[in-house]
Amino acid sequence: MTPSVNQFGMQDPRAQYPAPPFPRQPQEAPGTVGAMQPRPDHGEESYMGFGRLRGRRALITGADSGIGRAAAIAFAREGADVALNYLPDEEGDAREVVALIEAAGQRAVAIPGDLKDEAFCRDLVKRAVQELGGLDILVNNAGKQVSQERIEDITTEQFDQTFRTNVYAMFWITQEAARHLGPGASIINTSSIQAYRPSPNLLDYASTKAAIVAFTQALAQQLGPRGIRVNAVAPGPFWTPLQPSGGQPQEKVQQFGASTPLGRPGQPAELAPLYVFLASQESSYSSGGTFGATGGQVLF
Ligand code: NAD
Ligand code: MG
Repeated sequence: MTPSVNQFGMQDPRAQYPAPPFPRQPQEAPGTVGAMQPRPDHGEESYMGFGRLRGRRALITGADSGIGRAAAIAFAREGADVALNYLPDEEGDAREVVALIEAAGQRAVAIPGDLKDEAFCRDLVKRAVQELGGLDILVNNAGKQVSQERIEDITTEQFDQTFRTNVYAMFWITQEAARHLGPGASIINTSSIQAYRPSPNLLDYASTKAAIVAFTQALAQQLGPRGIRVNAVAPGPFWTPLQPSGGQPQEKVQQFGASTPLGRPGQPAELAPLYVFLASQESSYSSGGTFGATGGQVLF
């Protein structure tokens, strides 16, 4: 397992976590945390909360693994109750997150289901609101990424599924949630450095991530007058199941993060404080922004 690092101890960030080369590790989408070598750090051992989200109610999609798991752990340790969505196949990973949320003394509401389905997306929000007694924080984080070298290799089915998962679901869930969010609420959408610096093998995926930035910017202007903030997070390479399960070719997984100035991929635990910041009142004047965590790669 990746050694957990005290989140506040000063140290060289290059040496803080594992750097490439990594072993070959193909797995089927959507992938699991347990199959990753080295095991990612989601802050299980290290994240320390200070009550920054006390009493808040959050819905996080893709919360079973990766960036969403790190946000879920951090939110719970900051005092929030969390409803989590994931695919039914990911129940094993989700159970670990539920246990971590409950160990932090907070409520966890597990709502598995496929976000490509509009009816499910709307029901997801209704169930989260009902079970949590309302909603204050929405994190649209679930994502699909399938690497293809040539445009001819992207099927309409892939293109459609990527847009449904990354863009349509965000629209359906946010539209439904907007009926319940009040002043002080925060929406956080997971975009990517791909929105600004698209890789040739991620044509469809990068397009969805650019759409997420525009959606965030337009919605922030619309919801600002209602006291609701909307921001995007743009990660660089992060060590999550998305990448070895078809998100990148295996050679790229083995060298993942090597070309960043810090020389390694980020670990989900290193993004959690950014999600907490954007969810909390500490970021009260930040809306419509895109916040990067790219290991030194130029975002824009
Ligand atoms: P991850 O595989 O751990 O999380 C993605 C999650 O999306 C899955 O766990 C799954 O629960 C969910 N998902 C996918 N399709 C779904 C569907 N049809 N219905 C319901 N849930 C579905 O990987 P991650 O890297 O933590 O991904 C989280 C977000 O971060 C994604 O939006 C991804 O695009 C974005 N991102 C990741 C990186 C990276 O390098 N890992 C970089 C930039 C942005
Ligand atoms: Mg997962």
